[in-house]
Amino acid sequence: MDVSIKSVRKEFDGYPALHDVSLDIRSGELIALLGPSGSGKTTLLRLIAGLERPTGGAVFFGDADASHRSVQERNVGFVFQHYALFRHMTVADNIGFGLKVRPGAIRPAGEEIRRRTSELLDLVQLSGLESRYPSQLSGGQRQRVALARALAIEPRILLLDEPFGALDAQVRRELRRWLREIHDTTGHTTVFVTHDQEEALELADRVVVMSQGRIEQVGTADDVYDRPNSPFVYGFIGDSSALPVRVENGQLWLQDRTIGIEAEDVPNGAATLYFRPHDIELLDGCGGCIAGTVAASRRVAGTRRVELAVGGARERVEIELPVEHPAGTKNRIAFRPKRWKLFSAAGRNDLAQQQVYEPRLRDVEETELMLATGL
Ligand code: ADP
Ligand code: MG
Repeated sequence: MDVSIKSVRKEFDGYPALHDVSLDIRSGELIALLGPSGSGKTTLLRLIAGLERPTGGAVFFGDADASHRSVQERNVGFVFQHYALFRHMTVADNIGFGLKVRPGAIRPAGEEIRRRTSELLDLVQLSGLESRYPSQLSGGQRQRVALARALAIEPRILLLDEPFGALDAQVRRELRRWLREIHDTTGHTTVFVTHDQEEALELADRVVVMSQGRIEQVGTADDVYDRPNSPFVYGFIGDSSALPVRVENGQLWLQDRTIGIEAEDVPNGAATLYFRPHDIELLDGCGGCIAGTVAASRRVAGTRRVELAVGGARERVEIELPVEHPAGTKNRIAFRPKRWKLFSAAGRNDLAQQQVYEPRLRDVEETELMLATGL
């Protein structure tokens, strides 16, 4: 099922949670909505599900405007962050619930529900546990049940809101790979919300980067990492270093020195140079390069992170060196970024300006409601 979001706005009591968001989701695609807390990911997902109505714009399912269709009419499967399983029901009953509560005319026979439940148990690798209760399962197993329950109704689109957010790192990684396999097996259109960039980049066909109620960039993992289109995306995805510089006739300057980088067709004036801390070339000395003294150095897993005081010690910039590098405090280091990107100094986005938002905890009640209505 293709889903098309057309210039959607959403306000809550006058507060704009989404501004003019447009996005085309292709049938069979696995899309990740990635952004910091409060960027509007859940709101967008709920608009697709029909749990919210847009203030402006429309949501199309295929060629039809679905903006005013109910959750049930849209036939979506939804998985929430908190394991919203029915505590008093076994695994099998949880999975079959959405089918059992359908109105008579479209309710499958008991035998058919059991067959489907058993298939889904296989798919999520929980065969043998069908008689257990949620309290007798691990967190990862509960989320697999939640996914099987969402799939049981054969949704036209599967929506997941931070489904692994409450699990520990090891389990998250396993479930991530496993979700990709399920997606490839079932061929569903899947939209997945996460604030974890590693999860988004590893899992999704395309990543939708969101900030402050806007889509910043849509692209493959390579697109958003290698070709970020805004300071926000550069800063949010992967490690980055930013250095305030000055452009003068196509040359970049840091205080009173040129740094050996040419930027053609860029107007004179202040700008910010972005690069990846690992993507640099160390130099012995330089006429035109970035040079500074080591202000701090720490070992991070397989590399050494070094903070350099540059530009007459007025600026700090982070670079990554091999662990063998003898980067003692006060040592002098010269380098040049191999790849970089220049944004105007007044970049529209700034991580420091992100609004921080505590997620609401009403997901569990919501699922109960949705399931009770036969979703
Ligand atoms: P995310 O899922 O990216 O963390 P949300 O979509 O939950 O972000 O929220 C986006 C913004 O909209 C936040 O500032 C949040 O406070 C606000 N918001 C979301 N839902 C509501 C609501 N029901 N009432 C009022 N404000 C809301
Ligand atoms: Mg959210």
